[in-house]
Amino acid sequence: MAENAYATAHRQFDKAVRYVNIKTGIAEYLRTPKRELSVNFPVEMDDGSVRVFTGYRVHHNTALGPTKGGIRYHPDVSLDDVRALAMWMTWKCAVVGLPYGGAKGGVICDPKALSVRELENLTRRYATEISVLMSPQGDIPAPDVGTGEREMAWIMDTYSMHRGYSVPAVVTGKPLAIGGSLGRSEATGRGVMVTTLEALKRKNMAIEGTRVVIQGFGKVGAPAAFLIEERGAKVIAVSDARGGVYNSHGLNTRNLLAYASAQGTVVGYKPAEPIANAELLELECDVLMPCALENQITATNAPRVRAKIVAEGANGPLTPEADELLTDQGVFIIPDILCNAGGVTVSYFEWVQDLQSFFWGEDEINERLRQIMVRGFNQILRIAHEQKVDTRTAAQILAIQRVAEAVMLRGIYP
Ligand code: NAD
Repeated sequence: MAENAYATAHRQFDKAVRYVNIKTGIAEYLRTPKRELSVNFPVEMDDGSVRVFTGYRVHHNTALGPTKGGIRYHPDVSLDDVRALAMWMTWKCAVVGLPYGGAKGGVICDPKALSVRELENLTRRYATEISVLMSPQGDIPAPDVGTGEREMAWIMDTYSMHRGYSVPAVVTGKPLAIGGSLGRSEATGRGVMVTTLEALKRKNMAIEGTRVVIQGFGKVGAPAAFLIEERGAKVIAVSDARGGVYNSHGLNTRNLLAYASAQGTVVGYKPAEPIANAELLELECDVLMPCALENQITATNAPRVRAKIVAEGANGPLTPEADELLTDQGVFIIPDILCNAGGVTVSYFEWVQDLQSFFWGEDEINERLRQIMVRGFNQILRIAHEQKVDTRTAAQILAIQRVAEAVMLRGIYP
């Protein structure tokens, strides 16, 4: 079985922190979540029965500002996963220079097995349970696997009902009509596309005809697919939890998205051949974008990965062993804490717009996002070059330096 994500997050941290000049105690502090909340709560089901669900909200660090991080609904959610994801959020926000610390939340559930009413009950109750931690100044949730605009609207409404007035800035990834931001729904995929274009430039590879393979066709993978295709790349294979589709001449990803939205899966799309998920990861291609879940590329399948660039749309898709193997194979890895930071960056824009009640145009949002992603990319590459480390370690070094500086400037209270 693959190592748990929290152990992976610790191994990555321990590898990078050696390059940062900080006291052992500060390193220990940065390695540990600041606070963790576990909640067990009842939900009335459609048949009148009551089921108890378990959820979490973890704040990893608050040195740079309020915490930010998504909420995941998935049967495999565990406290350790949420801790890892919260820690990665701290580094992600720091890498792209956002004034946030890291958080994450999750509920152990299978959202596909719940009715809309049950999901609403669950979401409103979970939001109420974690509202002791949540606020526009303290902790601002967002979508993750299994949640989206609808759940964010329920969370915003629940929090607002308790206050007696509307508080849009308490959560991001909301629908546009209630304080969401233009560009947010595509933002993570756009960041994946932007950093992939930068990586192609570094490798002296042209975008035209670049063969891209994408695992996961959700909120990250689908926009990444059509945005990279719009730039001239050929998306030759895509998968979701049910299976995958392959066409060596390139899939029409907008058509594929329309198909998947109607059918609930990419499986069965034509013109394409079926392909299994494991096979897809090993396809001959230029860019592989894992945009599904953690631990998809391990010591077992890494030697068979034939991509030249791996763009980590998902959080933690490579185990540390796979990371090392791919780096040794000369694969250019765009590490998750940079690659998928587009989502939290536009979430930050959404929060700023909500606080100011003043909304920006989409071109301005996309251009600001592009600049932030390119700046982060260049800073990481510079550190990788200067310190002679891999790109993930460079990203961690940049992030740890920034958070450690904030901790030391603020001092140890009291
Ligand atoms: P999502 O639920 O919208 O989509 C997940 C996709 O992965 C779905 O298509 C699902 O069918 C597929 N999938 C699940 N298991 C799979 C498997 N074993 N093989 C192939 N496909 C599989 O979730 P999302 O928001 O797109 O998140 C995907 C990843 O990106 C997660 O790691 C998440 O933490 C990370 N992430 C998301 C955001 C965001 O803004 N949504 C931002 C940063 C990082």
